[in-house]
Amino acid sequence: SKKNRLRVIPLGGLDGIGKNMTVLELGNDMIVIDAGLMFPDDDHPGIDLILPDYSYIVQRKDKLRGIIITHGHEDHTGALPYLLKDLGAPVPVLGTKLTLGIIAGKLEEHRIKKPKLREIKPGGHVNLGMFGLDFFAVNHSIPDGVAVYVRTPAGTVLHTGDFKLDQTPIDGRFTDFAGFARAAKQGVTLLLSDSTGAENPGHTPSEAVVGSSLRSIFASAQQRIIVASFASHVHRVQQICDAAVACGRKVVVTGRSMVNITRIARDLGYLHIADDDIVDAYAMGNLPADQVVVLCTGSQGEPLSALARIANGDHRTVKLEEGDTVVISASPVPGNEKAVSRVMNR
Ligand SMILES: [Zn+2]
Repeated sequence: SKKNRLRVIPLGGLDGIGKNMTVLELGNDMIVIDAGLMFPDDDHPGIDLILPDYSYIVQRKDKLRGIIITHGHEDHTGALPYLLKDLGAPVPVLGTKLTLGIIAGKLEEHRIKKPKLREIKPGGHVNLGMFGLDFFAVNHSIPDGVAVYVRTPAGTVLHTGDFKLDQTPIDGRFTDFAGFARAAKQGVTLLLSDSTGAENPGHTPSEAVVGSSLRSIFASAQQRIIVASFASHVHRVQQICDAAVACGRKVVVTGRSMVNITRIARDLGYLHIADDDIVDAYAMGNLPADQVVVLCTGSQGEPLSALARIANGDHRTVKLEEGDTVVISASPVPGNEKAVSRVMNR
């Protein structure tokens, strides 16, 4: 019947990387899955950020029962501060521990006071209005991601979030195949699934394979090692830290998001490195070059990032010297290739 009609409204995502946001609306209840932004590229001169058009949500905010965030990436969280400000009401925001840790920092920067953050656990269940939600663990290039299985009187929706299938995950937390199998058994009326590279044949190698190549690069380096990666890729950061400590080097952290996320991830127990082994770049003093791994932002060629500043000779404490090894431990996100090669050419 019309009263039981479920409306699924994607406000972003789908056609590219960025501004993931999906509305589910049924009768007098509405939930939102993800609230991401998109970073502008060369086609968007003068534009800082691109937000999804969420006026549909703001116009119906009395129905909004909660916002579920599947994981901590910007293209799933970045619009949240703006949405919450425009809603002007404390709507519950649901996410796993690390996801909420990252969001809390972001909301604080935007001076959003007392947000209603509700921690969810993979394997857990929550009801929001007429929506029954089950959460399943998924592997991704950030820890603590979940898929959401939504039960409604009109049918079920499985929203996978971003995921990969890693048989040897760094943290031993596997994509919950059994959970997906249970959902399949109960029935899936609509599957919403989106994964970068899904059109490429074959499968994505396990994150664990990166560790051995990092170790061999580190072992043969004579001078300073500089590694750029995604700050939010905590498992990659963990492997960089482990390789550094294994060859007797300290990890020197630089770049705002790298400093922030390594702190949050260590505080919440997602990144493990002893206090003595990790140093802020502005407190590194005169550590000898062969005892340092600089861990920095800028793997996507961002012009103001730590790596770009190091390459341009503008960084306050890290200067490139003859014989230093620079590793960009990330593939360019489609669209960022030019920016990355610009930094490499420096
Ligand atoms: Zn993601």
